Amino acid sequence: MKTPFNKPYLTGKETEYIHDAVQSGKISGNGKYTKLCQSFFEEKYGFKKCLMTTSCTDALEMAAILLDIKPGDEVILPSYTFVSTANAFVLRGAKLIFVDSSEINPNMDAEKIEALITPKTKAIVVVHYAGIACDMDRIMEIAERKRLFVVEDAAQAIESYYQGRALGSIGHLACFSFHETKNITSGEGGMLAINDEQFIRRAEIIWEKGTNRAAFFRGEIDKYGWVDIGSSFLPSEVISAFLYAQLENIEDIQERRKVIWKRYYDAFSSVDATIFQVPNIPDYATNNAHMFYLNCATPQLRASIITSLKEQDVLAVFHYLSLHQSSYYKDKHDERQLPNSDHYSDCLLRLPLYYTLSTEEQELIIQTIQQHLNG
Ligand SMILES: *Cc1c(COP(=O)(O)O)cnc(C)c1O
Repeated sequence: MKTPFNKPYLTGKETEYIHDAVQSGKISGNGKYTKLCQSFFEEKYGFKKCLMTTSCTDALEMAAILLDIKPGDEVILPSYTFVSTANAFVLRGAKLIFVDSSEINPNMDAEKIEALITPKTKAIVVVHYAGIACDMDRIMEIAERKRLFVVEDAAQAIESYYQGRALGSIGHLACFSFHETKNITSGEGGMLAINDEQFIRRAEIIWEKGTNRAAFFRGEIDKYGWVDIGSSFLPSEVISAFLYAQLENIEDIQERRKVIWKRYYDAFSSVDATIFQVPNIPDYATNNAHMFYLNCATPQLRASIITSLKEQDVLAVFHYLSLHQSSYYKDKHDERQLPNSDHYSDCLLRLPLYYTLSTEEQELIIQTIQQHLNG
């Protein structure tokens, strides 16, 4: 395709920093660039402790281990999300209790959570879809009252806020992704942010294959050994060096993405809501320009827009298939219908949005859709 859905953007310093990491002779994990990335996030967003991981999937798996999720525990999460949000908890034996999306946007409907809580419920996992915040005050209030943990799947939510608070700083734990489809990338990559101090020590151990090596390197103990379960969650310095070059340019990247996002928004926000709707950003949320989507009224409209764009060599794509309808989980799901989640599965359409998308390419996309509506 001439205009793909996504193109990774390089700031220019990635290979220089990788070269520096290689020259230093220390290319495994938890070195200079790992620490630079972790400090960047802790200082800029107020996360108590950050640990870089090889993916958001890994960060979610760490979260599930940290929360001691066991067979029989119930975890509440949206059905309209990526499989990793669910898989991390299924791997520990949890039963998934899916909440429907809201009518206004694909985020979980906070008003539907409470009725799903049972004595077996252990955690609520929120997903800030398209980087737009869930109603966190409402969700944290329920969690505190019911003594539940909250994990933020903030994979799409870098540099986005809820009532002035950075997403990823509100739940007990939060997970970020630096996959090449995200605003800031290292190809594959992720991070666990720990906001509840009680988890910091154990998180470091799980991160380092179940050993207390991190404490050893800080000189706190004189030998290290196997103290808990864990796995190989930390990325090499090569990955963190790449990521750091991107982080240094986060403002420029965000500014450019917001310009592109707004051009789509201005072109389509006046289209009648019975045809399609542009993203709905509640007053408590900000827009980090992770994604621009059209919430089409019908699957037929979505399919025909995709076809018109394809004729212009432009790739627009739909997104998640509801997890409660997936071949892996549909027989395990309780009988509840989740109509809003199904609606987004059938009707949501994402348009190309990346740093180097030119104004001409974007104009072609906008005009093609407008002509499609008029024709
Ligand atoms: C991208 C994404 C993930 C997975 O991230 P990886 O870094 O590829 O593991 C998980 N959850 C959501 C909501 C995502 O968008």
